[in-house]
Amino acid sequence: MTDLNQAIRDIVGDKGFIAEPEQLIVYECDALTLEKKIPTAVVLPANRAEVIAIMQLCHAHQVPVIPRGAGTSLSGAVLAVEGGIVLCLSRMQQILMMDLPNQRALVEAGCVNAWVTRAAQEGGYYYAPDPSSQYACTLGGNVATNSGGPHTLKHGVTTNHVLGLELVLPDGEPLWLGVHPDEGEDHSGIDLRGAVIGSEGMFGVVTQVLVKLMPEPECYETLLVVFESVEQASRAVGAIIRDGIIPGALEMMDALITRAVEEAYQFGFPLDAGAILIVELDGDSLQTKLDSEQVQALCTKQGAREIRRAASAQERAELWKSRKRAFGAIGRISPNYLTQDGVVPRSKLPEIMHYITEVSSRYKLRICNVFHAGDGNIHPLVLFDERDADQTARAVQAGEAILERCLELGGSISGEHGIGVEKRSLMERQFSEHDLQAMKDLRSVFDPHGRCNPHKVFPTAKRCADFFIRKQAPA
Ligand SMILES: Cc1cc2nc3c(=O)[nH]c(=O)nc-3n(C[C@H](O)[C@H](O)[C@H](O)COP(=O)(O)OP(=O)(O)OC[C@H]3O[C@@H](n4cnc5c(N)ncnc54)[C@H](O)[C@@H]3O)c2cc1C
Repeated sequence: MTDLNQAIRDIVGDKGFIAEPEQLIVYECDALTLEKKIPTAVVLPANRAEVIAIMQLCHAHQVPVIPRGAGTSLSGAVLAVEGGIVLCLSRMQQILMMDLPNQRALVEAGCVNAWVTRAAQEGGYYYAPDPSSQYACTLGGNVATNSGGPHTLKHGVTTNHVLGLELVLPDGEPLWLGVHPDEGEDHSGIDLRGAVIGSEGMFGVVTQVLVKLMPEPECYETLLVVFESVEQASRAVGAIIRDGIIPGALEMMDALITRAVEEAYQFGFPLDAGAILIVELDGDSLQTKLDSEQVQALCTKQGAREIRRAASAQERAELWKSRKRAFGAIGRISPNYLTQDGVVPRSKLPEIMHYITEVSSRYKLRICNVFHAGDGNIHPLVLFDERDADQTARAVQAGEAILERCLELGGSISGEHGIGVEKRSLMERQFSEHDLQAMKDLRSVFDPHGRCNPHKVFPTAKRCADFFIRKQAPA
């Protein structure tokens, strides 16, 4: 490894290379803190030429490479399961081109999501996919996980907003896929751009992304709707969509998370609410106002006890800030939490929320919920104390039980956080052997030796029992 270390240093310089054990600890996990593994080294290239050179070198030495952005993944997607080089794009954060007349921007993959909107805002545009982690996560990570966010209900997830991208293959060959920044929109041929989006770093390293920008809507109507119960709020979600209204965002918070968020940030959420919906409508002024009135009528019919409307842009921004920092508020009520990410058909929301309550009492753990209700994309946060092995095991089991129920209800094991190492064993529950083989075959076209982000997504022969060690602890 010493020769390789020196060769890497020659490419990226001392600033771009980390191999000191105490510094490597920073990279031992992502936001799924249950699984940790110290990588062999971390490399921080400053530009695409350095990425290409590093990939060529690692290919020649047959060393696994784990692409990494900000490390906010919630599924262990950047874990160096058997060591290897973590290739972290966080120094490549430039916005290379802001092309407002053509409503697009070219950004380096390490650019933080929110910075794209910040740069486009002056011209009246924004980048629509807005994961709640958008002040930290990178465009490269968003592409690799096909990220969603509160505002992807109406406007679509990452794949709907990426026109093209550069992928450096595991052997170091760069490819441009999709619309090229120097050309007009050409969508002919097989959409390999689409194949890379959601491939969780297993197809190569994304270095640049050409994103679509959207014009800022003329008007926003942002409503905070208070219900006595999750059941009522869930029914209201169904009623709104059934009525033909697709809000820009339709988010739910249950009683436990609402209290935690209020105690942390003092926005003004009612501490005794059974559940809260945040409904945001956007578009031209007249239609948005009509839709807002209709939503308020529908919510009242489902039992809403109070409806507040954001009276200013500042109030709207404060409301979203509180919602997007909800996970951070958990630190006040629990030492640890496990975020689950499942999907159910919207009509099954009342059923899955009821089931989550059952799971909470069966496993004797508190579970709070803050999620993209309009998409049926649930995020139960299972609260536990990692210092207690029994609680930890129960938390993992509770999370799995919820995902299994999502499948039974016709849903999915992931809405936006990906599979990583966390949900590999559940892939066989959702996909047939043929489906999984087709995915593996596609991966091997890009990465024939399986050295780019190995041990992710696909179940192993040992069904992950080797890795998710805490599952083995006594329940
Ligand atoms: C508080 C919180 C809230 C969140 N809210 C949301 C949400 O609303 N919606 C949502 O979708 N997700 C959410 N997430 C999950 C996470 O932020 C997203 O998955 C995000 O896209 C990860 O970006 P990242 O830069 O941190 O990537 P990382 O965590 O570093 O990596 C994630 C995956 O992308 C791959 N990858 C990263 N960069 C590259 C690259 N340049 N080329 C190839 N592969 C790459 C990695 O190998 C890995 O497989 C949340 C996470 C947290 C902690």
